[in-house]
Amino acid sequence: MARPAQRLAANAPGPFYVDASCIDCGTCWQFDPQHFAPHGEASHVLRQPQGDGELRQALLALQACPVAAIGTTAALRARTPADGFPALITRHPAGDVYYCGWASRRSFGASSWLIVRPGGNVLVDVPRWSAPLARRIRALGGLHTLVLTHRDDVADHDRWARAFHCPRWIHSADADAAPAAERRLEGREPWALDADLQLIPTPGHTAGSLVVLLGERNAVLFSGDHLWWNPAQQVVVASERYCWWNWPEQLRSVERLLDLDVGWLLPGHGHSHGFAPGAWRLALEQTLADARR
Ligand code: SF4
Repeated sequence: MARPAQRLAANAPGPFYVDASCIDCGTCWQFDPQHFAPHGEASHVLRQPQGDGELRQALLALQACPVAAIGTTAALRARTPADGFPALITRHPAGDVYYCGWASRRSFGASSWLIVRPGGNVLVDVPRWSAPLARRIRALGGLHTLVLTHRDDVADHDRWARAFHCPRWIHSADADAAPAAERRLEGREPWALDADLQLIPTPGHTAGSLVVLLGERNAVLFSGDHLWWNPAQQVVVASERYCWWNWPEQLRSVERLLDLDVGWLLPGHGHSHGFAPGAWRLALEQTLADARR
């Protein structure tokens, strides 16, 4: 629970604040950039919310924080919406995509995504266990499959798989992080989970990193920590600094995604982004040029 006595000096004056327990995971400012922003090695309240809509967003950022480093008054906390997460991001012909919130410290606040689709709902990476979130997911049809994009973002996978009796996919090269996972992707060839849902191995960030592709045209790409969007520079980032296994392999994995038709990039860490038709390839070419400079 955030403590007023540990309120960071950078916070804008007002009822919302970030305290010294912030781990700088980025969850709050990725979800609610209107009110939260990075500041040195922590985040802070950039601007206090005004009006009901903004208050709802800030309260959901508070709920999503993996270490409860965001505080406010008890009266405002009592107004936290019970149905805020999962939050709808986009509707694709192959399925509706939601952000799950409830980030876990064990995955350093990584984002997890719910795909609600006729062939069965899929959870891409996992939030911390939350009974209210589980109830909402049940109301949306439950979970058919759980996909773990890589070893860092497995969080409470056992709890979620047990609650929904659904199989877990992970690449065999990262499977020691989730040894109970029922399904293992082998090698480097894409694997079709269904006609409109593929797992694509993208080794580099870790040996077993994979991305999930929903749809074919104007597809939604769930990229784990392989790629994310930098809004300040307007580029797709592949990060050598955060590459834990093999950087040249990671760049080869980026190349293998050039021919996709991606409309949305939804990462584990960093910002999401929507692309205009044709913009994906140009953006990845820029990523590769920047990385090789
Ligand atoms: S979500 Fe919490 S831990 Fe993460 S950056 Fe924001 S305040 Fe810090």
